[in-house]
Amino acid sequence: MTEGTLFVITGPSGAGKGTVLSRTMERVHGLHISVSVTTRRPRQGEEHGVHYYFAEKEEFEDLIARDMLLEYAEYVGNYYGTPAEAVAEKLAEGKDVILEIETQGAMQIKRRCSGAKLVFIMPPSFEELEKRLRGRGTETDDVIFRRMRTAREECRRIDEFDYLVINDDADIAADELRSIIVAARCLTERRAPEFTNIF
Ligand code: ADP
Ligand code: 5GP
Repeated sequence: MTEGTLFVITGPSGAGKGTVLSRTMERVHGLHISVSVTTRRPRQGEEHGVHYYFAEKEEFEDLIARDMLLEYAEYVGNYYGTPAEAVAEKLAEGKDVILEIETQGAMQIKRRCSGAKLVFIMPPSFEELEKRLRGRGTETDDVIFRRMRTAREECRRIDEFDYLVINDDADIAADELRSIIVAARCLTERRAPEFTNIF
């Protein structure tokens, strides 16, 4: 069976990655969204094993020591990382896997996983980004300030990404992300192996 494709979705906090992804999931089947491990405290409504695996710092550092993470990074005072085994299993089953991660992790994946497709989701402006981050109501003023500062650094790295999606209208952005996924599924290198023996 042909392996699935690994997609990395990156973008500043509040750009709308989660929103665009959930709309894309309604339009594309066969996607697996990786569940990350984090030392951040759960937000209201977040469930362990669904939104994240919530861990203590020592537990996270143990995962690093045992080489169980495909990538990890420290972001605004907390660790975030991708469990390696689950991603490898899903790709081997032929499923496309989505990692919704920040820039440092995306760069690790770029170095480590040669076929990965990297997508950067941008807000239409920084003013709109701050408005969305505040409007979501999940962060304190101090955390919003630090996330906005990090956002500026992250946006300087867009040249490293394969695709750039502007999330002005979330439906248009979801259509673009869907197109990127469908195009990767149509690549000859991915499709041809299933057809080489039929002629
Ligand atoms: P991220 O996952 O990148 O941190 P979210 O998906 O949580 O961002 O979106 C941040 C906030 O912005 C949410 O309140 C969401 O409803 C809102 N939002 C997302 N996309 C748009 C959009 N295209 N237009 C207006 N608001 C949006
Ligand atoms: P949040 O706290 O808003 O859920 O996430 C903060 C940032 O961490 C976001 O940019 C999100 O994409 C990123 N993130 C979530 N999981 C991972 C992960 O496994 N690895 C890395 N490197 N970043 C992650």
